[in-house]
Amino acid sequence: MTNDPLTAAVLTPVGRGAVATIRVRGDLSQLDDIAVPLFRAANGRPLSQQELRRIAFGRWGREDAEEIVVSRLSDETLELHCHGGDAAVQRILNDLQRAGCTAVSWQSQMAACGPSLDAECLDALSRANTWRTAEILLEQSNGLLLAAFQNLAQHVSLSPPLPLSPSSQLIDVRAKTLSRLNALLAWSDFGLHLTRPWSVVLTGRPNVGKSSLINRLLGYERAIVFDQPGTTRDVVTGETAFDGWPVLLADTAGLRDATEELEAAGIALARERLAGADLRVVLIDLGEPPSTDDRRLFSEWPDALVVAHKCDRPDRWLDQRPADALRVSSQTGEGIDELQRRLVERLVPRVPPPGTAIPISVRQVEVLRAALLAGDEADFRASVDSLFNFVGSAL
Ligand code: GDP
Repeated sequence: MTNDPLTAAVLTPVGRGAVATIRVRGDLSQLDDIAVPLFRAANGRPLSQQELRRIAFGRWGREDAEEIVVSRLSDETLELHCHGGDAAVQRILNDLQRAGCTAVSWQSQMAACGPSLDAECLDALSRANTWRTAEILLEQSNGLLLAAFQNLAQHVSLSPPLPLSPSSQLIDVRAKTLSRLNALLAWSDFGLHLTRPWSVVLTGRPNVGKSSLINRLLGYERAIVFDQPGTTRDVVTGETAFDGWPVLLADTAGLRDATEELEAAGIALARERLAGADLRVVLIDLGEPPSTDDRRLFSEWPDALVVAHKCDRPDRWLDQRPADALRVSSQTGEGIDELQRRLVERLVPRVPPPGTAIPISVRQVEVLRAALLAGDEADFRASVDSLFNFVGSAL
């Protein structure tokens, strides 16, 4: 029996619903003393004595008692299913709090149980914000990822014990495991982006049209925070999805030589954003002749996608325009679809086929990397073995 403090978390989404579920975790016997007057099971047993994984009908409350169903999932876990209205949920939560239970979010309740693959999958799913990413995360959480981790761990554990000198069999086991680790890790960047949008930062001279292009890509007018002449604007952002992939767009204030402290801070922030972005877009204004600022940006960010903006204006770049620059006009919409296509191509060059196991949390990636980088055989076995622990126990 655990001595953990009691916590209560609402598992169902906020708002009215037919049924709401509250999960209580901790030492359930603490509840019996105080809950007895509050909960009366039809079978007459106290909460902590309900049969495991069976549902029990009962009433909650003194007067105008409400019908609820409880289910004890383990020694420390109890679920209460009540009417879905906010008031019914709040009433039970209040009673539980009076009984010494702390109300917490379901995520923190799960996290308090220690790391587990299940908890991470559920947490990731709850943070997916497109159908496409949710579909992939659902596949992982429906056993694909668990199978991949178990497979990896078993492969090593079932192999023969460590011989004094490396045998060809051991080398073979290690080679196969390394290739499995590499196959999983190949998707780590993609997997982490399923819950964290790909970031695209637009840069270019002041007035090149960064804000206008972001608004076009977002499909709505995003408010500009600071737009006074001579003042470096804050970096502002907008989130959208291209082809079902979540993307965070940010523009930067013009990158000029800093003269003022404020300007310097803004420029440093812009550079930091650019360096940390998944993709940089350098805009040039086709209606203005090339300048040293444009050239500096090309040489500073050679891997950037170059947009020849304001292509509705007479072209003053002519043969100086970078060969791969994409002609775009935020005013007429020309080139916008092609720009979206190129952004997706650069951000998500490969899409995993269905059935591919993908690590989806930083911790998963770390565990896999540790196994891959293990210095010697003992280290290697220890880290692969830790995958077993990593799988953890589901609530
Ligand atoms: P930023 O300083 O880089 O964010 O530039 P803005 O988005 O504020 O745009 C600067 C000016 O360029 C504004 O007057 C816009 O109306 C104009 N502009 C933006 N995009 C286009 C375009 O595609 N074509 C033309 N002709 N003008 C544009």
